[in-house]
Amino acid sequence: MTGAPGEERDGGQPGTGPDAADLIPGRPVVFRNATVLTMDDAHHLWHGADVLIQGEMIAAVGRGLHVPEGTAEIDASGGIVMPGMIDTHRHMWQTAMRGYGADWTLTQYFVWNYLQWGKSFRPQDIYAGNLLSAVEAIDAGVTTTVDWSHGLQTVEHADAAVDALQEVPGRFVLAYGNIHQAPWEWSAAPEFRDFVGRRFGGNDMLGFQLAFDIPGSPDFPEKAAFEVARDLGVPVTTHAGVWKVTTDDGIRLMHEHGFMTPSTIYVHAASLSADSYHRIAATGGFASLSTESEQSAGQGYPPTWKLRQHGIGVSLSMDTSVWWSADLFSAMRATLSADRVREHMEAHSQDETVTHHSLRAEQVVDWATRGGAKALGMDSLTGSLEAGKKADVVLIKNDNSPVMFPLHNPYGHVVFQAQRGDVHTVVINGRVVKYDHRLVGTDLGRAREVIGQTVDYLKGELGPEAWADGMHPEIPETRVLDNPYTYTYTEDSGTGS
Ligand SMILES: [Zn+2]
Repeated sequence: MTGAPGEERDGGQPGTGPDAADLIPGRPVVFRNATVLTMDDAHHLWHGADVLIQGEMIAAVGRGLHVPEGTAEIDASGGIVMPGMIDTHRHMWQTAMRGYGADWTLTQYFVWNYLQWGKSFRPQDIYAGNLLSAVEAIDAGVTTTVDWSHGLQTVEHADAAVDALQEVPGRFVLAYGNIHQAPWEWSAAPEFRDFVGRRFGGNDMLGFQLAFDIPGSPDFPEKAAFEVARDLGVPVTTHAGVWKVTTDDGIRLMHEHGFMTPSTIYVHAASLSADSYHRIAATGGFASLSTESEQSAGQGYPPTWKLRQHGIGVSLSMDTSVWWSADLFSAMRATLSADRVREHMEAHSQDETVTHHSLRAEQVVDWATRGGAKALGMDSLTGSLEAGKKADVVLIKNDNSPVMFPLHNPYGHVVFQAQRGDVHTVVINGRVVKYDHRLVGTDLGRAREVIGQTVDYLKGELGPEAWADGMHPEIPETRVLDNPYTYTYTEDSGTGS
């Protein structure tokens, strides 16, 4: 904090706010008069409070803050200021296929991406998907995203992925993967080691993980890839507990070989036994829930109800834009609802009634922010609004929305009322990247141009028939049940005739 008591506030007339052009990187910014969800350890919640950002850091949270001369003042009255959201698992390279697989199951996703067309993606297509996906994330207030990049057939593809992430002013983690080769093969390649050495290190805007799955082969060939991760000192993120794909055997093998650590992230973690959850809990790893994915694709029932029982840390994710978008409001809503549905159904099966929900909106907001930071080992850096942390901050405010007032329960408002269109301002690493509902310093036109080129190319590769067939999988026949009742309308049976 600098600035003397009584110092005149600068940065625009009351109610007008600064112009986007004035929000240059490095200029201090203060959000004024907000409901502030700090998501600190005590979940301290402020009403009518300010958040001051200086340089890359949060300088102060409190009421009536005095600020340095030249600070840009953003009127946050009626709005909610909260930490930037964190998505711990997203296949950003697939974003050119946005919505294409809306009616897919996981099987259809595997066939299309793993067997049929995933290999068609060139480095420039990885770049295009990542660029659009990264822009989409920061626009939605998702300030950190793990790019679960398992289409990296060559290091050229990987360089293209990183090029895109570095063009967008968000915080990203490249989770390196390659579904077209075994992890013990690609992770042993000299060019892979060279890539890691060239592109990573000493930059908290770009982290690195290894991304691969463990189907559970008894000879555990993935051991070599885990050893590479250990040697590099980077976490492993793995799709775990995916129905009939990655099972308890994979968890057991990881555990028996000493590769389950507090930095390991278990994506989905849905179809697992109590024994596997015990092993995850004992070793301190985190789950990444893609609730909408688990619900639609079929990895298993979204497992927060189980994870809570076992004391396993939870983070949230959106998986892929083939079905969904980078919208963590949607993730929070789906996760809270899925947990409650399960609780009600379990009770009903015992002829009981749930009178008090176990899971609260407040906890789900924590998972979308702090939970992600903890899962990624970035808790000292981001995930809460506390002086000394990096300034990854979101203002939810929309004066044109009938849904932004009255504001009674801020956590409930974030989860069940707000949506990505209400994201007014986004600050990442102290830089304003969105203001007054518009991106600042990010060229959406460039993303539109390159994604259009990739879509044209992919349509050409598939041809019109495969393109249409892929998007519209066959619908199984629905047998309508025999009904013992009939109803026939006659003039006489009508009322008033
Ligand atoms: Zn995934």
